[in-house]
Amino acid sequence: MRLNIPQIPARWQDAHAHHRDRLERQFAILAAWAMLATLLAYQFSHALRGVPVADASGLDLLLRAPAYAAALVTLAGHYTGRPRWSAKAFLRLMSLSLMFTVLSLFLLYYQQAQAGLQQISKGLMVAFFGVTLMTTRGLRDWLLQFLLPLLLFVAAAGVLAIPLTELGPYLFGPGVVLVVGLLVSEALRGLSVQQFLSEQALKEMATTDQLTGLLNRHAFLPLIRQEIHQAERNGQHRFSVILGDLDHFKRVNDRFGHETGDRVLQETATRIRACLRRGDALCRWGGEELLILLPGTGVRGAREVGRKILAALADQPMPMKDTRQQQTISLGIAGYRGDTSPEALIGRADRALYRAKSQGRNQLAVALAAPAGGDAG
Ligand code: GH3
Ligand code: MG
Ligand code: MG
Repeated sequence: MRLNIPQIPARWQDAHAHHRDRLERQFAILAAWAMLATLLAYQFSHALRGVPVADASGLDLLLRAPAYAAALVTLAGHYTGRPRWSAKAFLRLMSLSLMFTVLSLFLLYYQQAQAGLQQISKGLMVAFFGVTLMTTRGLRDWLLQFLLPLLLFVAAAGVLAIPLTELGPYLFGPGVVLVVGLLVSEALRGLSVQQFLSEQALKEMATTDQLTGLLNRHAFLPLIRQEIHQAERNGQHRFSVILGDLDHFKRVNDRFGHETGDRVLQETATRIRACLRRGDALCRWGGEELLILLPGTGVRGAREVGRKILAALADQPMPMKDTRQQQTISLGIAGYRGDTSPEALIGRADRALYRAKSQGRNQLAVALAAPAGGDAG
């Protein structure tokens, strides 16, 4: 069921699944405690609520056991990590077992202690409301968690020869709660999606460059830091960075205008992205400077990537106003060599880039230096 729940853009699907899992995990633990407390309260308050006890040789307790067990399993999963099920699985387990418990208790009372049925009907309302809240995945969840147990219930009533028309007065209230609960749970879901979307939009604005859609400096530096940490822990870990600067880009702006220059930047970003692998990161480092991080790639591999990038730009002219012009780039490559900060590593790439420029542009140069001293490359 969808009540104006906004669509999640494809690029945010993974992040959304993560967000939803986190919420569901928090919710599952809350639901488990609430369920346990409610079960205990209802079990030991018969006198208070004026309900006769329908305790046919422990059957009452036996029927409550699945709901207790589901809550306890969920708590165990949360606090001990065993079983390692998803929050969705815990929620489904709890709601299905709760439905089993309340509906079978209802049948038990119907047969053995009819005087308590009004009270049981109130218990059903509470349970149905709790279960609607646990249908966090929308209509399919709702069908699974209500329809399935209700069908079993109808079948059981049939087996026990209980006419459904007689149950109507007791089920009407819970039925209303069921529908209201469904609306509430959909509204909550909508709110949660909206909250996710606005958080994600803010996050994206803070980490990406508006013109090219690439990562910005702010988002990129931590990625390099992470690589440095990994390399410090594991001596085998290699990675490289490539700093690129468009050649004679001022001329593009001067001849064709700033807007064309912007479009060239966007096209450059697209072409470079196509040369990279999924785990590589591409950042707009400055005006027309791009910085690439190649995790797991040493200098030799980075050189290959660099050659691909040079060709991707030089081999195919770019549209500029009514013409097509060759736009080249120069690249400085630095492989990690024990650099202690991103700045040190990028500084080496920058000096290599400077060499590529001074040697005639449209080419790459590799930094050879040990980081501790000056730059030999
Ligand atoms: P070089 O080959 O030495 O790099 O020559 P260059 O003309 O590219 O020189 P430089 O790198 O110093 O020039 C950068 C130019 O890039 C200057 C600036 O006008 C332009 N630029 C920087 N950011 C943008 C932008 O966002 N859009 C546009 N259109 N131009 C930009
Ligand atoms: Mg520049
Ligand atoms: Mg330039």
